[in-house]
Amino acid sequence: MMMRTSLRASLLTVFYEGGLSMRGASIDTETGLAAEPTKLVSRISVIDEGMLTLHAWGADHICKVCIANSGSCCQDCGNLVDGVGCQLRNTSCTAWLCGFHKYLLYEVGQLEQWQAFWEQVPGQDYRKDFTPEQLHVSSALNRPQQTMEYLGEALAADLQDMERSHIAIGIIITLREKLDKNIDQYQLEEKDHKRKMRIKRKIKVLSSDFQRFHFLLNKYYSDLADDRSL
Ligand code: SF4
Ligand code: SF4
Repeated sequence: MMMRTSLRASLLTVFYEGGLSMRGASIDTETGLAAEPTKLVSRISVIDEGMLTLHAWGADHICKVCIANSGSCCQDCGNLVDGVGCQLRNTSCTAWLCGFHKYLLYEVGQLEQWQAFWEQVPGQDYRKDFTPEQLHVSSALNRPQQTMEYLGEALAADLQDMERSHIAIGIIITLREKLDKNIDQYQLEEKDHKRKMRIKRKIKVLSSDFQRFHFLLNKYYSDLADDRSL
């Protein structure tokens, strides 16, 4: 997975900053993504699939709170037109996850498959891409069958509460960066099991104020377990 060192934009940001709607964000019917290996898909269908997947987890609710608190990752990008949105939809900005979105996918157990999917997509660059219009993928994104938007919505509400109740301005943006760093470290640590567990505990501490989110996350996992036992 390509690592980036500065704030980068997700298309979801533009989605809300620019008032773009999900209309047209459908899976390419001719070359749409499928689970079977080495499927030929279009670049645009890959972008659409990424956006739809994040949307299904409710990531856009988090963007609204983040942007309202000056955390937009599209800041100063020349491709952003005020009131219109992103003028250069690309695979790079879609694939990139900020700390909040990374945390969301980490908690629902989808982070690694998200990263594995985007590893297959060549030509990602800073705020643009050189991805070919047609490409082969061997794995698809796991989009939930039904919307799990309530999870992102709960996390967004927790973040909003944190921002309101803390004196320090920008507390959630600091938290976003800490979550990002710690989840990266957690993923990169492969040898030292004790250290890995320490980082995991740190992520737990960092997210301890996310009460609504954890309540619904527990329910999500208990519903999953019930479905599997049927
Ligand atoms: S290209 Fe720029 S405006 Fe578009 S999503 Fe990326 S950072 Fe945001
Ligand atoms: S939540 Fe993440 S993707 Fe959304 S605006 Fe903030 S930094 Fe960008």
